[in-house]
Amino acid sequence: MHEHARDVLSRRFKLIEIDQADAVPALAEDQRRAILGIACRAGISAETMQALPNLQIIASFGVGYDMIDIAGARARGVVVTNTPDVLNEEVADTSVGLLLNVVRDLSRAEAYVRAGQWEHADYPLSRLTLRERVVGIYGMGRIGQCIARRLEAFGVGICYHNRQEAPDLPYRYLASLMEMAAHVDTLISIVPGTPSTALTINGAVLAALGPDGVFINMGRGSVVDEAALLAALRSGTIAAAGLDVFANEPHIDKELLALPNLTVLPHVGSASQHTRRAMGDLVARNLITWFETGRALTPVY
Ligand code: NDP
Repeated sequence: MHEHARDVLSRRFKLIEIDQADAVPALAEDQRRAILGIACRAGISAETMQALPNLQIIASFGVGYDMIDIAGARARGVVVTNTPDVLNEEVADTSVGLLLNVVRDLSRAEAYVRAGQWEHADYPLSRLTLRERVVGIYGMGRIGQCIARRLEAFGVGICYHNRQEAPDLPYRYLASLMEMAAHVDTLISIVPGTPSTALTINGAVLAALGPDGVFINMGRGSVVDEAALLAALRSGTIAAAGLDVFANEPHIDKELLALPNLTVLPHVGSASQHTRRAMGDLVARNLITWFETGRALTPVY
């Protein structure tokens, strides 16, 4: 847990710190009975919840809550909270940074300077550019809309796909992911990791982006068929990709890492001290408000 959340919580509650949620069932019974709330950055299974008979609330650090057994929590009447909104701008900044990095080859250009190669020759022109691109945002929610606002300043075309058309947005809506992929050359995925998004970025969607296609994943690794992405990057079916999230992170397929047209980040979308503190603060405030008023600030259901 973020240290700011720990500090705030320790002033109001007695804290029991547990490194692995799996260890909860092994705690002494009186300790398990005493636990009324959880602040977590890890997955919480139905088994963990079952071991805590008086559990009322799980306050999760992060906006994505795919690692918590929501159905299990609901069934037991346990409230789950996340940390929406406070990270929108940071994640949107990181998304645009990753996109620029991918199309203009910036990481490799820096490595070139550091390796002393600029002394001998100019860095090669980037094959790709953001100019004249049309960007499709898969998941025009809180973060997707912050990405779109930034992209407006870059003068690119912007469209999106959600299951439902969002009201009052100035961007073209496409009713299916495949339809959108056929319409754009740049796809940014910022959907949650759910059964309905699992493996939806597949070979057909990537092929529809075309040979200048760029794919950016900021949402969840589970959304991407990584074998199909590997094949598409290898064969030139698409030009390049940038990933902040992976199916089995932090373990990344070595074959993916060997690709020259893939830029990787270690899930740092929201990872500034400023934003992580704001997220920690919201975790703590959710717990405090719940125990003071019986209402959480940002429940997920
Ligand atoms: P929101 O709930 O605000 O937005 C999610 C959007 O995805 C909605 O517009 C929703 O529209 C759309 N969506 C959901 N399911 C589907 C589907 N099956 N098909 C098409 N569209 C879908 O979430 P946020 O913007 O706050 O966050 C999005 C995700 O970003 C998080 O869940 C998390 O996984 C990820 N994230 C990653 C970070 C990082 O560090 N890389 C940091 C923060 C978040 P509709 O319901 O109409 O389909």
